[in-house]
Amino acid sequence: MKPIRVLQWGLGAMGSGMARLMLEKAGLKIVAAVDERPDFVGKDLGDVLNVDKKLGIIVTNKPEEVLNKEDVDIVVIATTSWTKEQLPDLRKILKAGINCISIAEEMSDPEAQNPDVSKELDALAKEHAVSILGTGVNPGYVLDLLVVILTGGNHRVDRIEASRVNDLSPYGPTVMKTQGVGTTPEEFRAGVADGSIVGHVGFPESIHMISQALGLGVDRIEENREPIISKVYRETPHVKVEPGMVAGCAHIGIGYRGDQEVVKLIHPQQIHPHLEDQDTGDYINIYGKPEIHMAIKPEVAGGVATMGIAVNMIPHLVAATPGLKRMIDLPIPAALMGESAYSRRI
Ligand code: NAD
Repeated sequence: MKPIRVLQWGLGAMGSGMARLMLEKAGLKIVAAVDERPDFVGKDLGDVLNVDKKLGIIVTNKPEEVLNKEDVDIVVIATTSWTKEQLPDLRKILKAGINCISIAEEMSDPEAQNPDVSKELDALAKEHAVSILGTGVNPGYVLDLLVVILTGGNHRVDRIEASRVNDLSPYGPTVMKTQGVGTTPEEFRAGVADGSIVGHVGFPESIHMISQALGLGVDRIEENREPIISKVYRETPHVKVEPGMVAGCAHIGIGYRGDQEVVKLIHPQQIHPHLEDQDTGDYINIYGKPEIHMAIKPEVAGGVATMGIAVNMIPHLVAATPGLKRMIDLPIPAALMGESAYSRRI
């Protein structure tokens, strides 16, 4: 079996983890790597990934030089959360005639907030006979695809409520800032108002995907961000939180059909939740016929699962019909274990 040739674009926390995972997969072969960080450019990928061997791939900041469809089957891009920010790079990839998986949160269903961009990407992919997908742990999996799959035997769904309670402690300074960790409650509210504190990125995409998959007819989405005020001292290498300060962001997204609340997604994210006896976990409740309650404890590990799902979807996307895809449009994700998994998917 010929391995699928991958270009890894973005070698940060996620991209480097994906690349290391691909090195373990016999059916995948990394053939090129792109990042704009000056300390990565010109280095052998093996050194950037800290894998104790040279890989013979030199990291470049000039994607044009490696975007060649004769050599590359798919690009996996892990550079930003925002569709519009990633768009110039996505255009280059599709115009080169190469498939693409993005982990940008907004790319999980670009139609939710950027319908024009969604149409453009779909048309461009079809024109060049390739496919493009946005995925990740959330959005892309836990609070959307998994919810959809759980309704598979339902006669009726009246309302969905799902929550993901997680621990932000492993993340770096960017996440601390965008979640408002370490601010005062007043600074938090000011940050939400001026857009510097965003909480979770992905509720409109997840709710839109669930509604479209089930036909729930959601016509309005509202979001609410509240500070999680700590009662105790909490600390990570990047932030210190005194009692009375903000340990995270309790973010809620609600999808309505008319006046009726049909999908409610709840995502309180904070550092060290255990210090206030809060367990992490993923919980999905489907109300209808039958009623379904699912609990996963602890949470599906965010970083690990994002790397995993992006890599596990590669054969599905290479085999997909041309166009813009969402996780609800493709065969279900599954771990890639052994050669049969690749041949079954392609
Ligand atoms: P990171 O900051 O550690 O890494 C980003 C890397 O991309 C950096 O090395 C940077 O130099 C590089 N980069 C940025 N723009 C570039 C460009 N135009 N060209 C070349 N290189 C560029 O971030 P991360 O933790 O790896 O996450 C990447 C993105 O994925 C984030 O926006 C994050 O929010 C998102 N994400 C999504 C999910 C999901 O569930 N969908 C999960 C995890 C992360």
